[in-house]
Amino acid sequence: MNNKDLANLIFPNINKTIEDYEKMYPERNLPPEAKVTRFAPSPTGFMHIGHFMPMLIDYLLAKKSGGIFYLRNEDTDGTREVKGSIEYIRSVLEYYEITPDEYEYRDLNETKGNYGPYIQSERKEIYQAFIKYLVSEGKAYPCFLTQEEMDIIRKEQARDKRRIGIYGRYAKYRDLPIEEAINKIKNGEKYTIRLKSRGDFNHKFKFNDLVNGEMEFPENDLDIPIMKSSNGLPTYHFAHVVDDHLMRTTHVVRGAEWVSSIPIHYELFKTFGFIMPKYVHIPLILKKDGEKIRKISKRLDPEAKMSYYEEKGYPTTAVIEAVMTIINSNYEAWREGHSTSSYTEFEFSPKKMSSSGALFDLDKLDNISKNYISHLTKEEVYEKVLTWSKKYDQEFANILEKYKDYSMAIYNIEREQKKPRKDYTYYSEIKEKTWYMYDEYFKDLEYDFGEIDLEEVKKVLKIYLDKYYNENDDQNTWFERIKEMCKELGYESNMKVYKENPQNFKGSIVDVTNIIRIALTTLSNTPNLYDIIKILGNDRITKRIEKFYIK
Ligand code: GLU
Repeated sequence: MNNKDLANLIFPNINKTIEDYEKMYPERNLPPEAKVTRFAPSPTGFMHIGHFMPMLIDYLLAKKSGGIFYLRNEDTDGTREVKGSIEYIRSVLEYYEITPDEYEYRDLNETKGNYGPYIQSERKEIYQAFIKYLVSEGKAYPCFLTQEEMDIIRKEQARDKRRIGIYGRYAKYRDLPIEEAINKIKNGEKYTIRLKSRGDFNHKFKFNDLVNGEMEFPENDLDIPIMKSSNGLPTYHFAHVVDDHLMRTTHVVRGAEWVSSIPIHYELFKTFGFIMPKYVHIPLILKKDGEKIRKISKRLDPEAKMSYYEEKGYPTTAVIEAVMTIINSNYEAWREGHSTSSYTEFEFSPKKMSSSGALFDLDKLDNISKNYISHLTKEEVYEKVLTWSKKYDQEFANILEKYKDYSMAIYNIEREQKKPRKDYTYYSEIKEKTWYMYDEYFKDLEYDFGEIDLEEVKKVLKIYLDKYYNENDDQNTWFERIKEMCKELGYESNMKVYKENPQNFKGSIVDVTNIIRIALTTLSNTPNLYDIIKILGNDRITKRIEKFYIK
């Protein structure tokens, strides 16, 4: 009995060898500078900004170099899988107009690329061929430790302040005679497959991370599990090595939480004699919380989830721009000189990434977003808010469809000027900021005219409608008429004169325009009143004003 017999007993149906797979997935035929990157989410049901940022880097690296960006579904942990996750991830990618070059969408029965399957659970045979090889070479072994035994070991290690894991004397089955292992398996005992580590914890090796530069780690000496007993699928560590090797990934972009696993990955790559890809370990994403700066949390911070931006209706361009500013410190300077270029033309440099943490600032996103929306045409704003509303507010979508030109006129207020108005931060805010223009929402209202007494309000409104309102007036004429009206009613239209002797007047022109503004909108703060009056038009103006004195 030898290791080969053991390997055959464990994997009786695995016939392909590593060499077979090397042939099936040859080196990619790409120019030397082309980068092959992957977005490898686990199907946990959401997408975090901590996924989005590395994904964007993957995409940039591949696009800029004429390489390949592929999507791999890392579903080896069946217990954590949430149905529909990968469909959701696809929808996020589509929303941001990011198309992977290779992928597998099971629900659509659609696959692209020659390096698949792109879903890990469909790669079981591949992993097992690699594991079979390790077992037959004596480089991996079945481990029969039960959960209870492992819990005891862990407690003992914690108590004795020792490193946690299966190594040295804790690796009870590492040197089990092959016959005994075979008997146990034949008796139906449960086992996992562990790497038989050959590392020496007291020996250090150097590793070059593209963000952190040269790093030094002690060698791995843990007999880490590489295949789970529950489903015969590999652990993350093992799948990473096999997949990124066979799929010919050149750059692995992933969160800093994986840095501590480098010794394991280093040993696994070395064991197979594979060249390691290059690594971009991206820093933690931080946020300001009062005076403190802390890690962004999907539990505490709604903005940690990508769904937040879609639900609020942030323009995708604004979200990408905001994330790009934390990806590289020189992005904003580049953007100033390349205002019309696509972000994919930016040359990402891992060196210009802060290794201590990337501060994601919502205020900054809001500014970028406001600025972006302010530069859209009225047609574009209309299309975007309509698309958003169809998904999140059907009632408003119906109103928008009914009043298309009217709505566009609203979005155009103070838009076609050198410094356009920056009213809207996201598309959901447009209803909040324009509702009063639509009769459908203009009911059950409360008006607050402040100090001004209601009789005076009625008087001002009546005279305005009867004598001074003319729907065809241009802005100057409109304003002249308001001034005339002020004179007739005892209000002063010259603010300087008014401020010198306020006691001589009933009020100023501001009081008069405010009465009109509040009567028409209920608000004391709106965009240009003349524009609002012009857009509302005769019928609405008449109805809204007459309401105050005709019961
Ligand atoms: N499936 C892993 C995760 O979602 C991927 C890490 C990696 O990119 O290697 O965290």
